[in-house]
Amino acid sequence: MDCLFCKIISGDIPSSKVYEDDMCLAFKDINPQTPVHILVIPKAHIASADGVNAENSKYVARIFEVIPQIAAEQGLVGGYRIISNCGEDACQSVKHLHFHIMGGRKLPENMG
Ligand code: 5GP
Ligand code: ZN
Repeated sequence: MDCLFCKIISGDIPSSKVYEDDMCLAFKDINPQTPVHILVIPKAHIASADGVNAENSKYVARIFEVIPQIAAEQGLVGGYRIISNCGEDACQSVKHLHFHIMGGRKLPENMG
């Protein structure tokens, strides 16, 4: 399958990993929008939040278990934002479910 994030999982495309286990991988966004900008992805190809179901929701559960650990390791003591763009209107550019962890400065209230 021609999926950028599946290639990052397989190691065919390099990434700056910050966390990895059997179900998920976290790495630095190549084009950071905030001082800390991490992407967390499931190690299963789920196209977007629309593709989450009873069979694969365990990946999402694991991601949300490790996000606080990643945030703490990244020094996000003041808080952080979790974003998942889903579909055209949200400008999802990579069609493999991912959660942006963003922080390291005060973020704007306005979400668009
Ligand atoms: P989206 O717009 O789909 O919510 O987010 C995709 C994110 O993936 C963007 O923030 C973009 O900078 C990041 N990205 C795209 N290609 C790569 C890549 O090859 N490596 C890494 N580390 N991030 C990428
Ligand atoms: Zn994929």
